[in-house]
Amino acid sequence: MISGEHQVSDLVGRVVDAFRDQVGRDPDGVWAAPGRVNLIGEHTDYNDGFVLPAAIDRLVLVAAGRRDGGRLRLWSLQAGPPADLELAAVGPGRVEGWAAYPAGVAWALGQAGAQLGGADLVVDGDVPAGSGLSSSAALECATAIALADLHGARLDRQALAGLARRAENEVVGVPSGAMDQMVSMLGRAGHALFLDTRSLETEQVPLPLEESGLCLVVIDTRAGHRLVDGAYADRKAACEAAAAVLGVPALRDATLEQVEAAAEALGDPGLRRARHVVTENARVLEAVALLRAGHLDRLGPLLAASHASLRDDYEVSSPELDTAVEAAVDAGAAGARMTGAGFGGSAIALVRADLAGRVADRAREAFAAAGFGPPEVTTVLPSDGARRLA
Ligand code: ADP
Ligand code: MG
Repeated sequence: MISGEHQVSDLVGRVVDAFRDQVGRDPDGVWAAPGRVNLIGEHTDYNDGFVLPAAIDRLVLVAAGRRDGGRLRLWSLQAGPPADLELAAVGPGRVEGWAAYPAGVAWALGQAGAQLGGADLVVDGDVPAGSGLSSSAALECATAIALADLHGARLDRQALAGLARRAENEVVGVPSGAMDQMVSMLGRAGHALFLDTRSLETEQVPLPLEESGLCLVVIDTRAGHRLVDGAYADRKAACEAAAAVLGVPALRDATLEQVEAAAEALGDPGLRRARHVVTENARVLEAVALLRAGHLDRLGPLLAASHASLRDDYEVSSPELDTAVEAAVDAGAAGARMTGAGFGGSAIALVRADLAGRVADRAREAFAAAGFGPPEVTTVLPSDGARRLA
């Protein structure tokens, strides 16, 4: 099994060694959870809509051991500094930096009634942080299954995903939707996860990339999520206002006809914001129907339409993301789009396997020609969700 460039067994060995170095004994176990790409369904989650992410072969690992007393000690091979916290003192607004993610999960487990004791956690992995592949959810979910297993908390995966999200929303303070933690917990190799963010109902939808001679290329623009907080709040507010104009609980409940009929009342950019969400939800349903029918090869036009809508109607793309998408399509990709919240982060491209190298070359050339720093280009595989590795 491969996680990115790494053999999973190598990653397990590395995190166990690091645990021995820090704690002076073997861990009680090693747990891991994956990052994700969102195939389609962007900015639909806070409108009670549909998303179609897939867990990927990039992992955050947590080596963990019980300890006496009520302290939580945390190390990471990717981030610093280590943290040493009193569990009872962890809560919203009380932890700084990367430690807020794992400590927030411990807090959320406690809020759900789990009896947690002290623990030592060493974190390692190969989900790039801040690239839009949701390293944050991977870290939260790996911590959640590690602590739940370590202390015998009986919570199902969906409940653990909810607690991981609570950690991010309330302790880290990022108002993200349900998608990232759900797919990191529930992902399945060879599948995408169709998620209704209103009911939290899920369906595993086949995504047979290798069998179809296709691959999923990720072009990480390496451009940070500039302006993302303010723009996110602005789009969320615009969607709520549009739903109020349309007289529906959320844009999930509106049709394109309703939106167009209310063009004047919605105004600009209200009309375009609402039109993105409504058409994007429809594209997710179309994509799911295609995948259920075994037509992965026909997904391209939906990805292209999603990107155009995010760029022109929702206005959350960036010059780097547009360049990545254009280069991929130029080089023969069946379809490409930005993935994640936008303004930076990564684009994905669905590409015939024999053209992946050309897509990578074309993206690098286009970035150089535009005066951008070099992108990071890799391929990812739809993979299993959170699990115990050792
Ligand atoms: P994304 O989820 O798209 O990767 P975020 O900004 O939501 O980006 O989350 C990135 C943050 O998650 C990092 O800044 C860090 O605080 C934390 N994080 C992710 N991976 C690790 C890791 N391996 N070790 C420690 N912290 C990590
Ligand atoms: Mg994140």
